[in-house]
Amino acid sequence: MEKRLIKKNTLTGIAGKMADEFKVWAPVKQEENVIFSPLEKNEQPFFAYLNSKNAPKQIFFPHTETLMKYTSTPKGMVFAAEENKADKTVLFGVRPCDAHSFALLDMLFDQEKYKDQYYINKRNNTTVITLACVEPPYATCFCTSVDGEPVDDKGADILITDIGDNYLVEFVTPKGEKLANYFGETKADAAAETKKKEIAEKAKQAIKSKIPAHEIKPILDVNFENPIWATIHGKCLACGTCTWMCPTCHCFDISDEVKGNDGVRIRSWDSCMFPLFTKETSGHNPRTSQKERWRQRVMHKFKYYVDNFNAIACVGCGRCVMSCPVNLDIRKVVEDIAKIK
Ligand code: SF4
Ligand code: SF4
Repeated sequence: MEKRLIKKNTLTGIAGKMADEFKVWAPVKQEENVIFSPLEKNEQPFFAYLNSKNAPKQIFFPHTETLMKYTSTPKGMVFAAEENKADKTVLFGVRPCDAHSFALLDMLFDQEKYKDQYYINKRNNTTVITLACVEPPYATCFCTSVDGEPVDDKGADILITDIGDNYLVEFVTPKGEKLANYFGETKADAAAETKKKEIAEKAKQAIKSKIPAHEIKPILDVNFENPIWATIHGKCLACGTCTWMCPTCHCFDISDEVKGNDGVRIRSWDSCMFPLFTKETSGHNPRTSQKERWRQRVMHKFKYYVDNFNAIACVGCGRCVMSCPVNLDIRKVVEDIAKIK
């Protein structure tokens, strides 16, 4: 597909212009953090960041969303589907690991057997513009161990790479190509593509944190009862931060809120780290301790997702590593599992 060059100082203006036509989610500075948020009128996006505090999955899979409403009437219950409305949206300046997470979430929410129209509607109405990582990464980034790269178009409709004086803009999908008119007329030449390849290779080499993520699936297959599970969870506080920050975690709870005759059915994020996650109405809880919960976290990411979709459900963003209050590091857990004989 076509490739163009734009001047470095034009990116913010392009995002602003798009905001006249679309709802634009972009990285913005909020005190010392960078977070993804819908751009307010005249608000400046902040592209000089390594990665955002929050994962932008909330655009397609919000913290809470209403699925339907109902009313109890003398003639019985009357149900009304919640309007499944999705604004025309652009997600501008997402990092490649987070865009990769969308490709992984698509496998679950938009699979042949089950179609989650709430997710699909938002995803279909959103154009994802990825901003490649060319600066030295966080020490906690490990995308190259889990099928990602710092300059990568997985999950993207447009890929933008800083190649020095200019940005190289690559239209990855027909959806991305529809926004070509925002990116000027200058076609990219062969020299720009060569430069991008050099920069991509350098960025890849700069990812120093590596884990044996692909080696542990056969080990997990036969080690559900291994004593190692009793050694991992010790300091875990069950706070759920790792799940909340993770771009690929997608477990949810469905609850009803009723007032008088009216009710709403709501879907909310949940976490396998919480004791209540698997507690049954009878009071029985099949995952009796944090040991079983941590095993589930590892199994889900590195075994069950591979079984179901042939993909590891981790993109190596390092958010859980940075945010865990007790420094429980999933990279170390994977390394320890890889050592099981
Ligand atoms: S962030 Fe750390 S302490 Fe909190 S649930 Fe996850 S592993 Fe446990
Ligand atoms: S498990 Fe941790 S490193 Fe992997 S995608 Fe989730 S937050 Fe990022």
